[in-house]
Amino acid sequence: MSEENPIIVALDYPNAKQADEFLQRIQDQPCKLKVGLELFIAEGPKFVEQLSAKGHQVFLDLKLHDIPNTVASACQSASSLGVWMMTLHALGGTNMLQAAYDVVSSSSHATKLVAVTVLTSMDQQQLNRIGIQKTPAESVMTMAELATTSKMDGMVCSVHEVSAIRAKWGSQPILVTPGIRMQDDQANDQSRIATPRQAHQSGSNYIVVGRPITQSDDPVLTMNQYLEDWSSSN
Ligand code: C5P
Repeated sequence: MSEENPIIVALDYPNAKQADEFLQRIQDQPCKLKVGLELFIAEGPKFVEQLSAKGHQVFLDLKLHDIPNTVASACQSASSLGVWMMTLHALGGTNMLQAAYDVVSSSSHATKLVAVTVLTSMDQQQLNRIGIQKTPAESVMTMAELATTSKMDGMVCSVHEVSAIRAKWGSQPILVTPGIRMQDDQANDQSRIATPRQAHQSGSNYIVVGRPITQSDDPVLTMNQYLEDWSSSN
């Protein structure tokens, strides 16, 4: 049996037209697609529903953070669109995360819930300014603890944090890691990057890759190169 494709392609486009043009370039092959705030706010739930109906597994990355009832209702709506996996902020706390879990676990489509630990844009100084005195690495572990005790399916974190999370919580949590580049790729605005091979070796389950694939002259070829690099750590 072949291993599941670990690549989630980030559809970071301002509208459905550009996203559809990209999908045509990959010949509409069903794959995992991230829909984030930009595209979701521009095109709304219909677009997500259409992607799911075409067989794509949608990773809805809206990083929800609100009162428990509001977040739980939003998760229910996402679940009814056929969303495969979605993100919530662990900072929303255990009541919010558990309310989301309760709703999704009793709905007919089992959308996976993954908690964002700490945004990589939050360095020590930024954390201090919102009253968090822990280091970013310590804060990630605190957020991961909240996520696991609140029955989240997994977490979003950087590859550099995967080993510590695996050491503490084992193989159970699904770990989704952005910030991925091949050795020779441009970093763009990513600062702490890792290769697909490094992500796989450290224990990541899925990698989120955007511009290297969406801006490639041959996105299918680039996707296959990322896949080969991932598999080279077997
Ligand atoms: O840089 P690239 O185009 O591969 O980014 C892919 C996706 O990963 C983007 O949608 C971005 O929002 C997301 N992301 C990230 N770094 C983080 C968290 C999320 O690049 N630390």
